[in-house]
Amino acid sequence: MQYRGFPKIPNKSISVLGLGMMRLPVVGGEGSKIDEDAAEQVFLTAVEGGINYIDTAYPYHGGHSEGFTGKVIQKHKRRDSLYLATKSPIWLVQEARDWDRYLNEQLERLRTDHVDFYLFHAMNQERWEKLLRLGGLEWAERARREGRIRHIGFSFHDRYEVFKTIVDGYEGWEFCQIQLNYLDTEYQAGLAGLHYAAQRNIGVIIMEGLRGGALARLPAEAAACFERTGQSRSAVEWGFRFLFDMPEVVTVLSGMGTVEQVKENCRVAEEARPLILSEEEKKAYAAAAQAIRARMPVPCTSCGYCRPCPQNVAINEIFGIYNSAVAFEQPGEALWYKKAYVDAGTGADACVACGACLPKCPQGIDIITQLQNAHQYLMKALTGDKG
Ligand code: SF4
Ligand code: SF4
Repeated sequence: MQYRGFPKIPNKSISVLGLGMMRLPVVGGEGSKIDEDAAEQVFLTAVEGGINYIDTAYPYHGGHSEGFTGKVIQKHKRRDSLYLATKSPIWLVQEARDWDRYLNEQLERLRTDHVDFYLFHAMNQERWEKLLRLGGLEWAERARREGRIRHIGFSFHDRYEVFKTIVDGYEGWEFCQIQLNYLDTEYQAGLAGLHYAAQRNIGVIIMEGLRGGALARLPAEAAACFERTGQSRSAVEWGFRFLFDMPEVVTVLSGMGTVEQVKENCRVAEEARPLILSEEEKKAYAAAAQAIRARMPVPCTSCGYCRPCPQNVAINEIFGIYNSAVAFEQPGEALWYKKAYVDAGTGADACVACGACLPKCPQGIDIITQLQNAHQYLMKALTGDKG
């Protein structure tokens, strides 16, 4: 295993591969029922492979991830040799005293008296404003003085401009966590965000490095781009090497569900060094990304200019799910669409075709028609009807 450091936290060596506790093995396909015996083996294989950064969050596995993480760390007496990261569920925070309430609950779940890396979870414009309004930063600094958290950061899901606002809005950020992979270099914070944070000495943790596992199962035309290099690597290895090559990246989180995955990913993390990709390999990444994008039905860049929609339709998120479902032939995306958007009233079926979004789209997308297409495709996929 290789180790890197956060620019503002030079005394801590972090494994370049971190264990995400959000995709642990489960019983009967139910996300909230962690298969504790299998998950324990995943954990042990990871720490024996040199992983020392463990990332969980309040809502993972239906709220059971933190509890399992605390239990398994305590059982194997690993607390002192691991860095534990978890996140403040800012969407649940209603008033200033809730910051403490949730941290106390998390410390109890995690069976520890401190969290090493504490993040404000899934920050966006709205949550940033809430954080400021409810004094979250002052509270976090106090919690750090008290030793209950050691380092303050945030994870991020919004546009690059919002990322810059958050980075510039607080000098005390020690680290941040962004989504990045070779397909999403211009999505959300993207590569620009990685460099922006690094220039300000904010260490960057990567999530969704394999896009939720999609980049582990490449369409044939994308796989062919990598095969042409003559390198015999799995799709997973190609995905990780893209990220390990960047010296600005401190650690790449991976939600590993099996012992075999942990061993293989640790091997890649051991071998990959920063700045070793050849020009030919870099071209292969660009070509593979292009091949995947060519399969996507909507050329949406997720810029968000079409928002807000008066009906709160989650336009770009829906196109993202639709594109992923088609490009990677992932019917599982449909369930997420139904649960997170249709059931919440922000699905494509909430569009009333007012047309307010149409002139705002720089890609000239016929948003109304494509929303209908997306809804039809995803709802059919949900019922297994491919027609
Ligand atoms: S056309 Fe549909 S998606 Fe666009 S702004 Fe109107 S309701 Fe929202
Ligand atoms: S404006 Fe167009 S490209 Fe941008 S998020 Fe909306 S649909 Fe996508």
